[in-house]
Amino acid sequence: MIGRLKRISQDYFYNHSLWVWSRYIGPDRLVRVEFIVSLPLMYMCSLSAVYFDTTAMKKLLYLATSGKNRGDEAAGFCVRSGDRYILTKATRKDGDVSAAYNELISLVDGDEVTAGIAQTRYSTRGPSDAIHSQPFEIDGKHKIFLGHNGTVANAKQLANRYGFECTTESDTEVIGKLLSDADSVYEGVKSLVKEAIGAYNLTVLDEDGVLTVLKDPLGFHPLWWGRGKNGEFYVASEDSALYSIGCFEPEELLPGEMIQVSEDGIKKHMFVNEKTAKCAFEAFYFMKPGSSYDGRLVQDIRHELGYLLGKKETMISENGIVVPVLDSGDVYGKGYSKATGMPIIRGALMRNREGRVYMDPGIKDEHGLKLTRKEKAKLKHVPIPRLVRGKDIYLLDDSIVRSDTSFAITESLGLAGANSIHWRIAFPQIRCGCIYGHDHSRKAELISARLELEEEIAKQIGADSVKFLKMDDMPLIFGDISNNCFACADGNYPTDVPEECRSAIEF
Ligand code: 5GP
Ligand code: MG
Repeated sequence: MIGRLKRISQDYFYNHSLWVWSRYIGPDRLVRVEFIVSLPLMYMCSLSAVYFDTTAMKKLLYLATSGKNRGDEAAGFCVRSGDRYILTKATRKDGDVSAAYNELISLVDGDEVTAGIAQTRYSTRGPSDAIHSQPFEIDGKHKIFLGHNGTVANAKQLANRYGFECTTESDTEVIGKLLSDADSVYEGVKSLVKEAIGAYNLTVLDEDGVLTVLKDPLGFHPLWWGRGKNGEFYVASEDSALYSIGCFEPEELLPGEMIQVSEDGIKKHMFVNEKTAKCAFEAFYFMKPGSSYDGRLVQDIRHELGYLLGKKETMISENGIVVPVLDSGDVYGKGYSKATGMPIIRGALMRNREGRVYMDPGIKDEHGLKLTRKEKAKLKHVPIPRLVRGKDIYLLDDSIVRSDTSFAITESLGLAGANSIHWRIAFPQIRCGCIYGHDHSRKAELISARLELEEEIAKQIGADSVKFLKMDDMPLIFGDISNNCFACADGNYPTDVPEECRSAIEF
């Protein structure tokens, strides 16, 4: 049992041209390796888990790689091999998934692994360094390894109430302490569900070898599970990730559903809530086009949203071209082009792969050179003058949040010779902060919180026009939206807004 193991050595060494910190715990080598490099980037998180599979390592690699759309600032694995638990993490600069995985392979050293969890991260609370990367290892009455997607909005309040002494800024540590200080993970989850406000999809490996998978009762973010041909058990944030390992008939965890998997089999438990609050922004931006949301393909939803934007268009130009802001803008652009008849030219805005865009500035940072959000956006989206010169450009994107992206692209397109520039945005104006896990938690940073009118926003970003879909349009696409969360657009929060999150609703 790992609870009885104790640390036997600690050392620092240099590896793969990076500093690596490694801590050895226990005679049977419970090993943790962390790459001490930090890079603040934007994204969410993905969770994965595998059980009853002799090829668990490969499956975790596939699932974590498939989860990179939700976060690739850091990645981590924790696998169980007999009584040994092995935890590796790496931040993006080191190659995240692949660096953490290579380290895992060398530490597992050929031993059989049949269960494990993985997480890819985009921080919403706490810095994006190795210490805040997941899975977390938390020692209380019993030890657990924890992956978390979402944000617990009252984490500080909970830490105070329980007297937790946290070593990180992460709400995940508070969750971990609650679970590991309880008599069992199940007892801990009961307290969590009672006391936590917010979003907390979890994967937990405990020292008895039990895997616990939980979707919070409001069901903000996606989480799926499925079985393999020989009874293997798999978990991933999005169903399309499970397709990557040949698991083609996954099921979505229900809001409040908990699944516990051990050598004794699978047990399910429901923590019920009268209402649910599925995050709508997931469908607009975070999820892969091939994933499912509310029982429909994300790409179909985006196509309908783009089509609706096109149907509402009042200024179609004979000289107009539709330019999607890649990647999420792609399907919106197709729908909009179909509705307006204006041709879609995907290549007019070339997208530099983020890996390259962010990696170089990261290196330069150490020498005192830091790119602003606008500069990063410029580097990421590059207009091709031959395709845009003299044209009326209709840009299709999922959202305008702070307006750095739209400002930067508008300026570049103008310089490249565009005749006029029009933004068409699928998500309604974001006027409030998200307290459930997205990276727009402060009202003060949101352009639509400061400027109400579309004309004002167009002026601010230097464009000829800006149009958003409206909250009134949403039922046309989603039907009854009382079980979806649009709080960042309409201010209708499905929970209390705790004191520590007031900046979401106040300037
Ligand atoms: P803005 O630059 O206006 O703050 O953000 C809008 C742009 O960023 C859009 O192109 C949208 O696709 C993207 N975006 C919106 N939310 C997020 C996020 O949480 N993470 C990342 N990486 N991009 C986002
Ligand atoms: Mg975008």
